[in-house]
Amino acid sequence: MVGELAQIGVLGLQGDFHAHGSALDGVGVPWRIVKKPTQLAGLAGLIIPGGESTTLIRLMDFWGFWQPLLDYARDGGALFGTCAGMILLAAQVRNPEQRSLGLIDIQVERNSYGRQIDSFEGTGTLRVGGTERPLEMIFIRAPRLLAQGPAVEALAFCRGDCVMAQQGRVLVASFHPELTADTSVHRYFVELASR
Ligand code: GLN
Repeated sequence: MVGELAQIGVLGLQGDFHAHGSALDGVGVPWRIVKKPTQLAGLAGLIIPGGESTTLIRLMDFWGFWQPLLDYARDGGALFGTCAGMILLAAQVRNPEQRSLGLIDIQVERNSYGRQIDSFEGTGTLRVGGTERPLEMIFIRAPRLLAQGPAVEALAFCRGDCVMAQQGRVLVASFHPELTADTSVHRYFVELASR
């Protein structure tokens, strides 16, 4: 349980948003599903879950999320994108190129792990709060972080890649921390959003 916490939203347009809710329950923070832009009001943090980024873009257009999300970030709201969510938050997307919110200075390549290991589980390293420790990570047709700007901090690694990164109030992960029992990545985001 973390002290005084504002509410966290989970974008519920598509993908595995309920699993993020369970992880937030594990942290002990109030959360709600966000299906319309007006529901962003008052949130300290928003999670954009995994799914299919092209579908998410279409649904975000349909519900008019694009500008409200940029406004939300500009006004200090924290964001956490996992997998497809990371693709949406990136500055530049490859394979193929596609539109993105550009809220973190990273370049990502979609579906970057070859066919054989298109989805895999591995033990990576989480480096937050001045400590480093092993963490189980699940990757599902994951994007790879190809390049990062100087303002971006690398926070986790797996098989030689940076798999979690942060720039200011924007956090991204190419793996799915909502699918493992360890809630430390969600706890890290909740603390970031509550600052
Ligand atoms: N492959 C998906 C995409 O490119 C992301 C996969 C995921 O979110 N699990 O959008």
